[in-house]
Amino acid sequence: MCFKNYTQHPGCGHYGETYHNHYTPCLTVFATLSASRGPSSPPLSPPAEFSVPSASTKQKRFFSMSNMLQRSNTSASSSSRRTVSGPEARTSTSSFVPDGLANDVGIPDHELITAASACPGLRIRTQVSKGPGGRVCKECAQWLEYMRSMLDGYDKGRGVRGTPAFNMFLEHTRESRAMMDMLGLLPTPGPAEGTVLGGR
Ligand SMILES: [Zn+2]
Ligand SMILES: [Zn+2]
Repeated sequence: MCFKNYTQHPGCGHYGETYHNHYTPCLTVFATLSASRGPSSPPLSPPAEFSVPSASTKQKRFFSMSNMLQRSNTSASSSSRRTVSGPEARTSTSSFVPDGLANDVGIPDHELITAASACPGLRIRTQVSKGPGGRVCKECAQWLEYMRSMLDGYDKGRGVRGTPAFNMFLEHTRESRAMMDMLGLLPTPGPAEGTVLGGR
């Protein structure tokens, strides 16, 4: 079975796609991909975990969190990735993954992703992160980019209103709401909303 790998990114603590080895092909898929290479291609190395005797003990460290991961994956794709469609586009547009190989198998990522995601035995798993300590998940990376561009616009005198980072983090700050309230500009909340606000 092939694996789609997720990890807890050390820089933000969120679970998200791994940047390197996002998919681990099973030996069947690996053999198919190897066979489709030309004879002059450099030799490929099968996934290390399938070729070492300790593979079964190694895999016990992984635990399934598929529900949680699917949820975070969905929210990431709906809120910050409106313009990209699939995993191929995602890989090639990420600022962290250099063009070409982001895997140890030696197969171009778009080929590997296509073949592995079509594997009937595809499983989702989380791995212990081996990346740099400051690395963040893709959604955080996207928000950091939004913050960077908001700051850039601010420095150039354009203000921040309407930017994605402003809408997410600054539009409804406590101070701004308190001021609106004092000036009588807050809309009167409906009964349900009022209950929630009163509880805080
Ligand atoms: Zn497979
Ligand atoms: Zn994150």
